[in-house]
Amino acid sequence: MMAKIPVSVLGATGTVGQKFLRLLAEHPWFEVAAVAASSASAGRRYGDVVRWRETAPLTERIAGLTIQPCVPPLVGPIVFSALDADVAGPIEQAFAAAGAYVVTNTRTHRMDADVPLLIPEANLDHLALVDRQHEARGWPGAILANPNCSTAALVLALAPLHRAFGIAKLFVSTMQAVSGAGYPGVASLDILGNVVPHIGGEEEKIEHESRKILGTLGPAGVEPAGFAVSAHTNRVATVDGHMATVSVGFGRRVTPGDALAALREFRGSPRVACLPSSPDPPVEVDLRADRPQPRLDLERGGGMAVTVGRVRPCPILDLRLVLLGHNTIRGAAGQAVQIAELLVAEGRVDRPA
Ligand code: NAP
Repeated sequence: MMAKIPVSVLGATGTVGQKFLRLLAEHPWFEVAAVAASSASAGRRYGDVVRWRETAPLTERIAGLTIQPCVPPLVGPIVFSALDADVAGPIEQAFAAAGAYVVTNTRTHRMDADVPLLIPEANLDHLALVDRQHEARGWPGAILANPNCSTAALVLALAPLHRAFGIAKLFVSTMQAVSGAGYPGVASLDILGNVVPHIGGEEEKIEHESRKILGTLGPAGVEPAGFAVSAHTNRVATVDGHMATVSVGFGRRVTPGDALAALREFRGSPRVACLPSSPDPPVEVDLRADRPQPRLDLERGGGMAVTVGRVRPCPILDLRLVLLGHNTIRGAAGQAVQIAELLVAEGRVDRPA
């Protein structure tokens, strides 16, 4: 059996950090060797500091780790970042400059021209930006980003349609769970029995990130996809899972039957499909009238699949549909782990002998 690759987690005490530790607990290739967080937590035993919110118990080995400050070097060639976005920028850059592959959940570097913003089933070719980053920044490591949580589910569901028919116009309205705001996140008195029709910066992230991910890699970087996006984002009183209702227009006539065939046939490259975290299929279609629902459909594909339902004609654009994705798995930690697996599978990070 292959020896496991040691990895480190920055922001390990937060919502996404905890999800990393849970997903990596039994990972076939990776083993968490170091956890890091703010100076208020550093130097203390992880189990004494963390407010563990995962339903699987915290393992004794991880509980016994001493929290490190977010200063390079930490153990291993891969560093996962679940840092507060306000502090992530210089910390992630310092790790990349010190030789680590930093796979980040934060917004800070997502739109940088030389940083790949990856959903491997949708834009595997953008991984090549890592070479430009080595060259442009002169550092031996690199920063790779996964998308914002609502964008991740949206774009995975739309990738087959964009690939097959070319999206021209997109209207999306989200219903996003409270875990998307971290812990403690939104005050219970603000969200229980309520809907908050504003999530700071989220609409802009959907509009910019979706066009970068579905864009074309050229000599000057990624040329964003040319479609127009109108996004409305809402915080709702669910715990996990971001839903979105979508209307989409194409450059030509597309029937629900055409769209369903494209969604059902969609598979990532075999180079992605073989990764331990890749779901099969990445997009699940469920045409029951009242699906998908967060309580019933969130764990499909281990939280890495997106579920699409209610595919029907739209009287304004061409098609309407509903989609659901797991915001802390496909939308955060699980997506980052899959990207790290890709780095190993593509030979960019060595496997131990
Ligand atoms: P969170 O629960 O608030 O956790 C933030 C983490 O950052 C904690 O570990 C915290 O450590 C650490 N931190 C804060 N200030 C720091 C500092 N000055 N130096 C070093 N570490 C510091 O947030 P989250 O929801 O897990 O989100 C983490 C990142 O992922 C954010 O950038 C967020 O936008 C992004 N993201 C979140 C989701 C989601 O669904 N929640 C999805 C996609 C992306 P202490 O405990 O020591 O303070």
